[in-house]
Amino acid sequence: MAYVIGDSCISCGSCAGQCPVSAISQGDAHYEIDANTCIDCGSCAAQCPVSAISQG
Ligand code: SF4
Ligand code: SF4
Repeated sequence: MAYVIGDSCISCGSCAGQCPVSAISQGDAHYEIDANTCIDCGSCAAQCPVSAISQG
């Protein structure tokens, strides 16, 4: 059960730098998390200024 980024993402990029396994990258509409790489550490969710990241 990986974390997911919702539509409220403003593409600030803060979360990408927090991810220990580099699972976050810029997608078409907003940043995205690779579910196969995410290890559910939660660091990105704590970093997001608009609370766009939640556990899927
Ligand atoms: S929960 Fe952790 S491993 Fe998963 S995308 Fe966020 S920072 Fe990366
Ligand atoms: S920290 Fe939040 S707003 Fe910024 S890119 Fe990540 S998900 Fe989007």
